[in-house]
Amino acid sequence: MEIKSSAYIISSPDYTKCPSPDRPEYAFIGRSNVGKSSLINMLCNSSSLAKTSRTPGKTQLLNHFIINDDFYIVDLPGYGFAKVSQKQRKNWEKMIEDYLRKRENLVNVFVLIDSRHDPQKLDIEFINQLGKWQIPFSLVFTKADKENQKTVSANVKSFLNKMKETWQFLPNHFVTSVVKKTGREKILAFIAEMNEEFKI
Ligand code: GDP
Repeated sequence: MEIKSSAYIISSPDYTKCPSPDRPEYAFIGRSNVGKSSLINMLCNSSSLAKTSRTPGKTQLLNHFIINDDFYIVDLPGYGFAKVSQKQRKNWEKMIEDYLRKRENLVNVFVLIDSRHDPQKLDIEFINQLGKWQIPFSLVFTKADKENQKTVSANVKSFLNKMKETWQFLPNHFVTSVVKKTGREKILAFIAEMNEEFKI
């Protein structure tokens, strides 16, 4: 898929304030600093669409972007901040749960995982929650250029093996690097395919 245009639309405090659900929508989420903004920018061929390295935990909003006038990308606030209060965490949980379960045009959630690490409890817990809510998702292993290929492959395998302990089917997954533009074409092709299905 060719990216002809991409633009920021709005940041919303909850799903009821989001743009009208008239186009397929793809959400991106992961731990803070996992590389989410960088990935969105890489996919859209932009250097500044999503803001990288925001103050952790500060922005608790659902950020909408429109791509090719055809579909939405949503940058969701990340999880796993050490410094947020109990109240902020509860607000985040409510906002994310409502958005994920009630946004009617949400086609797929891309869950970003840092490819440099062993399976992390927080990521697994989040994914299991998506499973309970029956929300379709894919895994995106980020920052693949930061370690050698062998380590990245071992970490991906180890993550999928961890999932196999409780999941009957594994989700599809992508390995990405914004530095090398790895994974871009595959993710965009996947989105293009889902966009077609949305029309039917
Ligand atoms: P976010 O908090 O999840 O939105 O993460 P950012 O996109 O702000 O990225 C966090 C840091 O990781 C920044 O310094 C990025 O430049 C860096 N980063 C993100 N993706 C990659 C990648 O694929 N390769 C490398 N080498 N660095 C990355």
